Amino acid sequence: VGDSADYDSEVESVCAFCGVGCQISIKVKDNRVKYVEGINGPANEGRLCVKGRFGYDYIHHQHRVTKPLIRRDDAPEKGLNVNPDNWQEFFREASWDEALDLAADGLKGRGREVAGFGSAKCTNEEAYLFQKFIRQGFGHNNVDHCTRLCHASSVFALIENVGSGGVTATFNEIENADVAIVIGANPIENHPVAATYFKQFTKRGGKLIVMDPRGVGLRRFATHMLQFRPGADVAMLNAIMHTIVEEGLYDQQYIDAYTENWEAEKAHLKDFAPEKMEDLCGIPAETLRAVARDFATAKSGMIFWGMGVSQHIHGTDNSRCLISLALMCGHVGRPGTGLHPLRGQNNVQGASDAGLIPMFLPDYQSVTDDGVRSAFTEVWKSEDFSNEKGLTVTEIMDAVHDGDIKAMYILGENPAMSDPDVEHARDALAKLDHLVVQDIFITETANYADVILPASALYEKTGTVSNTNRQVQMVRPAVTPPGEAREDWWIEVELAKRCGLDWRYTHPREVFAEMAINMASLNNITWERLEKTAVTYPSLSPEDPGQAVVFGDGFPRPEGRAKFTPASVIAPDDTPDAEFPMILTTGRQLEHWHTGSMTRRARVLDAVEPEANCSLHPSTLRKLGIEPGGMIRLTTKRGSIVTMARADRAVSPDMVFLPFAYVEAAANILTNAAIDPYGKIPEFKFSAVRVEPVSEQ
Ligand code: SF4
Repeated sequence: VGDSADYDSEVESVCAFCGVGCQISIKVKDNRVKYVEGINGPANEGRLCVKGRFGYDYIHHQHRVTKPLIRRDDAPEKGLNVNPDNWQEFFREASWDEALDLAADGLKGRGREVAGFGSAKCTNEEAYLFQKFIRQGFGHNNVDHCTRLCHASSVFALIENVGSGGVTATFNEIENADVAIVIGANPIENHPVAATYFKQFTKRGGKLIVMDPRGVGLRRFATHMLQFRPGADVAMLNAIMHTIVEEGLYDQQYIDAYTENWEAEKAHLKDFAPEKMEDLCGIPAETLRAVARDFATAKSGMIFWGMGVSQHIHGTDNSRCLISLALMCGHVGRPGTGLHPLRGQNNVQGASDAGLIPMFLPDYQSVTDDGVRSAFTEVWKSEDFSNEKGLTVTEIMDAVHDGDIKAMYILGENPAMSDPDVEHARDALAKLDHLVVQDIFITETANYADVILPASALYEKTGTVSNTNRQVQMVRPAVTPPGEAREDWWIEVELAKRCGLDWRYTHPREVFAEMAINMASLNNITWERLEKTAVTYPSLSPEDPGQAVVFGDGFPRPEGRAKFTPASVIAPDDTPDAEFPMILTTGRQLEHWHTGSMTRRARVLDAVEPEANCSLHPSTLRKLGIEPGGMIRLTTKRGSIVTMARADRAVSPDMVFLPFAYVEAAANILTNAAIDPYGKIPEFKFSAVRVEPVSEQ
């Protein structure tokens, strides 16, 4: 951090990493970011974590794609790692016209043979344009993005049971809560600024109940730490709810006024006495009962969850349990109460809101509803498109293998690193006869591209993003993109025109205005307002800063009632056996974000965490004869990787924790593609694995 002499301009924008959505001031000199400071945004009040403060310099990295690239006729086979310092062996530079023409030629007129992955790293306007491009341009709904890999099951359960996919309360509301549950989430590493509010909550006496198979950092602040057996979430949560029913701790008045299906839930819970569930979930019955009493008898309680809840084949059931728990205690719709799935990427909330989902148009309006489709096609001045739900991320890869999808447009996503059972995804990408990748680097996915369109980083863009709190915020360009790289919305428009669409947008504000026509969530939120301040949706008037807590007077469901959906215990898909005796779980680290394409090119972050690694309990390492820092081989039914072992007492002796940011030890070579039947989210959090020492050569 320096003083004003160190920079010649400062621009207010939003951090490019996690869903907390911290507002930042970017200090710029000679078109380079000098440093970043936190400012007083609604989600961060000046705070930043290490990624926000020090992770910006990836945008100036030498590996940025600065010109459109076209695969050479004599290039080696698709999928071989492209050396970013020697990409000329694979690609040649092209003009924008040549690259866009080639990109469009391989897509247009191919209808259902085309699918698209948009990006939660882009703005709301860019996400909206992307889903419109696929729907209007190709007549179907085969468009998805990384929400499928993070909170699709949470969103399914929320829409099913409370009628809306967003959080019911901001995380800052914890300051009004008496008790909070954080389950399947590791905010200290993944939502660090949100975690500071959680810690402050405990300092003023709030009861924090942490539930996770890993002893995540928040345990140090917890009243109760429930380190339950992986995959036993439903058993544990049902046992807690059983206690609430058995001891009459539920809020009958609230249940009568605002919910339905309570009797079925109550009857279902009879079989889940804590004494019967304690072995299955690994938590003593008395602890389960104590947690039930603490949560149910508190005046106000909140529930936060992360991908430890959602990334299971029973991810939707996990979320259904959390929703039921909050509803039966009346912990929704008042200050200090609510349901909050902590969103991962900076704009995964906004990209989902904007319709980058195969079953929903913007604002979660169903593609199967004729009236909804016609409202959109009227605005788009185009013909109707398919009323069938489209394919999801993993289904699209299967359809490529089946020969049904032959061309893809991938904007800012990296399925060659992020998909489960990633060799299956990589083989699919290699099979495509046309792949357009729009990105800022030659990612692992771009290794398979026919055309690479050089895009912009967030700090080079104009647009809006929506954070985990439903706060819509403006991002502004601090620097110009390098070389001939362009903003993503501009590239989308140019590609659409070449695919025959009459798109005439000249600025993201025009896209925002179009979005607002059919998105009730944007009522009273205008571009001009957002230029001055963040607004939380829903906003009830042009002056209303927005509703931090929603559903105080009923839910957007029939008769205004939320629903209890009982959940039964389903075993994980890939359970340990003699050959694969341990449990593998994957996740993020504080310093690295998602597939690492950005943070591993950020100097400070890479210096702190430079090497692929995994964590095991010290007793497990001893048993296997492995020293901390030694190399180990992890093998599942899908494949094998070698990485460095770390000792970590937070990991149970029967588990391995593996970050997924490292291409040299790609975690998703190991993970299971089995999906939750509702949210269609893969089971990243549970695979049977074998661990072996690797002898030094
Ligand atoms: Fe950025 Fe998230 Fe860190 Fe805030 S908490 S600075 S949004 S990575």
